[in-house]
Amino acid sequence: MTADELDGAELVVAERDRPAEGVAVLGLCRPGGGDLPAWSPGAHLDLELGPGLVRQYSLCGDPADRATLRVAVQLEPQGRGGSRHVHERLTPGATVRVRGPRNNFPLVAAARYLFVAGGIGITPIRPMVADADAAGADWRLVYGGRSRATMAFADALREKYGDRVRLFPQDETGLLDLDELLGQPVDGLVYCCGPNSSSSNGSPGGTRCRCSPGSGAASRCTPPASGWCCSRTRRPRCRKRCWRRRWSGTPR
Ligand SMILES: Cc1cc2nc3c(=O)[nH]c(=O)nc-3n(C[C@H](O)[C@H](O)[C@H](O)COP(=O)(O)OP(=O)(O)OC[C@H]3O[C@@H](n4cnc5c(N)ncnc54)[C@H](O)[C@@H]3O)c2cc1C
Repeated sequence: MTADELDGAELVVAERDRPAEGVAVLGLCRPGGGDLPAWSPGAHLDLELGPGLVRQYSLCGDPADRATLRVAVQLEPQGRGGSRHVHERLTPGATVRVRGPRNNFPLVAAARYLFVAGGIGITPIRPMVADADAAGADWRLVYGGRSRATMAFADALREKYGDRVRLFPQDETGLLDLDELLGQPVDGLVYCCGPNSSSSNGSPGGTRCRCSPGSGAASRCTPPASGWCCSRTRRPRCRKRCWRRRWSGTPR
């Protein structure tokens, strides 16, 4: 922990929204108001949701807003209770103990980016996109999900950024196949994030992602039980699905 992190501080749910089916956005504030720690795109919070029930949630709001930390949580009906606790208990006025923010998935400065989000994996990507855009980078976002209704922030992203954002609702376009989209190596950094989904052949949020093993750049991937995978790579051009490989727990 650093002095800039919360260490089990109790925050209050000041706002709650429903940006998509099965997704709750919480705005967390200090009970008496006041500044919260600074954070950068890719950072997450640990939420203590019960005894032995700590879950990570990426910050999806605006880092310039120091009064509120925003997380978007997808309900996992088959899960062990973390997301269910958020959906059922964390209503406005409720409190929750929080640790962080911590960033294991930082946005590295580059002239070009390709962002790939699967389902709720849009959460860390959303502030990254805003950052890249503000920095004048050349960027694109490819965002896949089961259906438009389940894709949080999709309309707002399209409205704000237009054609830089391409939406791939699986029920309209089928699985997002990066190999087809990216016939050529990408000149820049590629950031991918998505949950594991049994309905998507083990790929994140309906995305079929292929990228080059050993491509060097940092990445983070958690084991299958947490069902969450984020990575940064340089060139998505191999012929093998990367996500299953990452579930084996070997970060690249
Ligand atoms: C850094 C980070 C950032 C994250 N950010 C977000 C975010 O912004 N939004 C968000 O909604 N989620 C995010 N997550 C995922 C989140 O932390 C929780 O994992 C998620 O909310 C599910 O928690 P749960 O307790 O409801 O389900 P879990 O019990 O964690 O289950 C999740 C999934 O894994 C399956 N599963 C459970 N146990 C096993 C097992 N032993 N073997 C195989 N599969 C199993 C479940 O069936 C379910 O589909 C993030 C995770 C990490 C690591």
